[in-house]
Amino acid sequence: MKLSHRITHITGGGSDGWDVFYKARRMVADGVPVTELTIGEHDIRTSPAILEAMHTAATGGHTGYAMVPGTHDLRKTVAARIAARTGVPTTADNILITPGGQAALFAAHMAVCDPGDMAVYIDPYYATYPGTIRGAGAVPKAIITSPDTAFQPTSPALAEATKGATSLLVNTPNNPTGVVYSQDTLQAIADTCDAHDLWLISDEVYDTQVWEGRHISPRSLPGMAERTLVVGSMSKSHAMTGSRVGWICGPADTIAQIINLATHTTYGVPGFIQDAANFALHQGDAVEEDVAAPFRRRRALTMQALAGQNVVRAVPAQGAMYVMLDLRATWMSGEAFANALLDAEHIAVMPGESFGKAAAGHVRVAMTIADNQYVDAIGRLIAFASARAA
Ligand code: PLP
Repeated sequence: MKLSHRITHITGGGSDGWDVFYKARRMVADGVPVTELTIGEHDIRTSPAILEAMHTAATGGHTGYAMVPGTHDLRKTVAARIAARTGVPTTADNILITPGGQAALFAAHMAVCDPGDMAVYIDPYYATYPGTIRGAGAVPKAIITSPDTAFQPTSPALAEATKGATSLLVNTPNNPTGVVYSQDTLQAIADTCDAHDLWLISDEVYDTQVWEGRHISPRSLPGMAERTLVVGSMSKSHAMTGSRVGWICGPADTIAQIINLATHTTYGVPGFIQDAANFALHQGDAVEEDVAAPFRRRRALTMQALAGQNVVRAVPAQGAMYVMLDLRATWMSGEAFANALLDAEHIAVMPGESFGKAAAGHVRVAMTIADNQYVDAIGRLIAFASARAA
């Protein structure tokens, strides 16, 4: 039977760049010990207090259909959090609760793009971006950034790529680079959106993981609240990846339209999960700092390990749970390096090429294992690269 073009073309065909990841998983299944630094998943689990709140909500009866836009309490809490952190007046009507940030990314593109519209994103990019855009019927177009500008898009590149586009998707703090966009970059993004009448889709799921500088939500820049859809999530901030709870924040009339999409797709998020998310958000900033602390620590450990050599260089890791390592001194592609490292040292990292064209010759390291094992793995990676470069 014929399937739709939309579903058969979501991945865009060809290798998805995740071969090293799958090879590592096969080795693990065959009993080979592998140090996996691939996936953006914490090495701690959701806290017992949040699980207790979930249990109490579920056994208390919040297991029926929940309100499709989200419970009023959670929408209000998310709105208050965003207003407090950005200074932009935000109410429950500006918020739709979604099953994670990924569903929010899809819904946002569905909301603003008609079939065939051009939707721009920044390379290197989070793996699902082009497929999400294709799934929404739009045509993805990448702005290829450069290590020379710390993988931040420049004004001329933004202006050139967005001619005739409908939307621009940005992500700061960034996966995979760990870069936090500067005020200047965000202003250039805002100016481009204004000049080309674009929707901005701002993926801010790492907003609680900032090690250097300050996270600025572009929705807070003058004139941007009316044309920005912010994607947020509890996955990274509260180690709730499996709970599937996130949100879109945008203009109230747009959110009202996206609620119609939710009614006809997800039909909302389980009530007991939303109650647990609401509980978690009321625990204050200290809980978020605790969840982020291991990555802050390991980022510092990475910088210590890299000191005193210049074969492996870090892209300034200012946020998120990754560090992008520049291995061009080895003359190997990121893919060749990651494969060789896996074979020789049983350490799995993601080739930069898995995230588009811009990060060729780099690998992304997820800082998601215990500190002592992490330091050991980084030391072995550096020694391996140094031997290759010699
Ligand atoms: N956006 C970015 C940049 C991510 O790295 C991820 C997950 O790794 C997501 C969105 C989706 O997260 P979730 O659907 O778990 O909220």
